[in-house]
Amino acid sequence: MSKKILIGNVAIGGGEKIAVQSMATFKTCTDDAVRQAVELENAGCEILRFSVLDEDDAAAFSAIKKAVKMPLVADIHFDYKLALKSIDGGADKIRINPGNIGGEQNVQKVASAAKANGIPIRVGSNTGSIDKEFLNKYGKNEVSLAESALKQVAILEKYGVQDIVVSVKASSVPLTVKAYEYIAAKTDYPLHLGVTEAGTEFNGVIKNSAALGALLLRGIGDTVRISLSAPPVKEVVAAKALLSALELRTGANLVACPTCGRCEWDCMDFAAKTEKYISGINKPIKVAVMGCVVNGPGEAADADVGVAGAKGGCVIFSHGKILKTVKREDLEKEFFAEIDKCIL
Ligand code: SF4
Repeated sequence: MSKKILIGNVAIGGGEKIAVQSMATFKTCTDDAVRQAVELENAGCEILRFSVLDEDDAAAFSAIKKAVKMPLVADIHFDYKLALKSIDGGADKIRINPGNIGGEQNVQKVASAAKANGIPIRVGSNTGSIDKEFLNKYGKNEVSLAESALKQVAILEKYGVQDIVVSVKASSVPLTVKAYEYIAAKTDYPLHLGVTEAGTEFNGVIKNSAALGALLLRGIGDTVRISLSAPPVKEVVAAKALLSALELRTGANLVACPTCGRCEWDCMDFAAKTEKYISGINKPIKVAVMGCVVNGPGEAADADVGVAGAKGGCVIFSHGKILKTVKREDLEKEFFAEIDKCIL
């Protein structure tokens, strides 16, 4: 089991729930960034990372912290002073590459400030930042990727940092899985999971789900980011759905049939509406939207509440037993009221 550490008010590792992370897309020192942070927190984001490009960005954390409760991460390249300033500003975690902030004396300064403020540091590698030493020795593979990250870990440890989070990201699903498996066997620091440059919403969700699903089901990983070339709120929604599908989070679960020739109503549209309706529910209920009365209630017999369609109307059922028949135009009101009863 990984070591437990605190990022602001969120504990990760050590069997804590897997935390959902995302990254802001607006410049950190802008009002848009504050608005986006609020939007992401409302959508279920639990840790949010910001790029820190200059002093204004580093100073912006105090204002963002007034707007949201979740911990904020400062992502810094090249300039250790921005890391120090971000810590002063109230960042709850720092993401650096110890190899690119101007020598170990600067790493030491950041390490001292982080320790003094109880702030963890994330280090890590991706396929574009593999250390030359390991690239030459092993080529581009899981060993070079993970050993590069472990070298960064060793630098932080040398300066007494104990609260470390590690990532080893690739855009290849098999390589991502192998790299995390490799590093999980070598370190007990919490791991931040992600597939880098995963792509647009559809393909990105598939790649991330494949890699992160394989790892999380084996108990590897403590925080997740579903990186997408899409608005970050989509990352958060996808991460929550993935954790729920893996049964690592309690929440409402929608089962919906794929439909077939027996389906005689707009089942898919209604499934999409229902999915939206139940997305904020935190209770572990199962809701079914099925295509036909002939097989629907039986196929979804374990659903707490379900609907199966027919030409003239729909039946609402619970655990395979029909509760009532309703007209199509009344279905939304009647069905959502039955869902509400399940969560009382
Ligand atoms: S529930 Fe009915 S419509 Fe849906 S797949 Fe099964 S048989 Fe087909």
